[in-house]
Amino acid sequence: MDPLDKICQTIRELVAADARAGNGPSGFSARQAAQSAMRDSFAPRQAYLKQIRIVEVGPDRRIPKHSEEFFRIGTRLYEVHTDALVALDGGPLVRPDAIRLHCRCGAWATEVFFCGYVGCGLGLCRRCVRRLVMPSGQIENLCAAHYQLALDRYNTWEAMDQRGRV
Ligand SMILES: [Zn+2]
Ligand SMILES: [Zn+2]
Repeated sequence: MDPLDKICQTIRELVAADARAGNGPSGFSARQAAQSAMRDSFAPRQAYLKQIRIVEVGPDRRIPKHSEEFFRIGTRLYEVHTDALVALDGGPLVRPDAIRLHCRCGAWATEVFFCGYVGCGLGLCRRCVRRLVMPSGQIENLCAAHYQLALDRYNTWEAMDQRGRV
């Protein structure tokens, strides 16, 4: 209903009620009614909306995070909070702050493995990490280059060892 119509209607109802109560039309009550109707009709009402948006990491490598928007439609104020969930390539939906690595292979990862080769320390995703099982049973995380280097060395040592036994 149009706010003005509502005010008029409220005044009419109040005047009628006063008349029924035997008080006769009361200007004060009618003004009060008008003020109350005004407040009711024009006071901004706020709506709080919460939504989740599923996003992908943009080409600019920006990871969208929480955003807030405020806008007004008529007398209503809308407050929209948007939480982003990132769709990782072939993986689950994750919260943006759970992403810890942009791997060399292009993948965004929530889990990081660091190459254990002295002086390297490259961060790697689960697909890129190479795991070398040491003779002691200990597992070493390595990048592809240092995994290869470690294997070559190991093979060299083994070859030397073989020769030593002959
Ligand atoms: Zn990777
Ligand atoms: Zn490395």
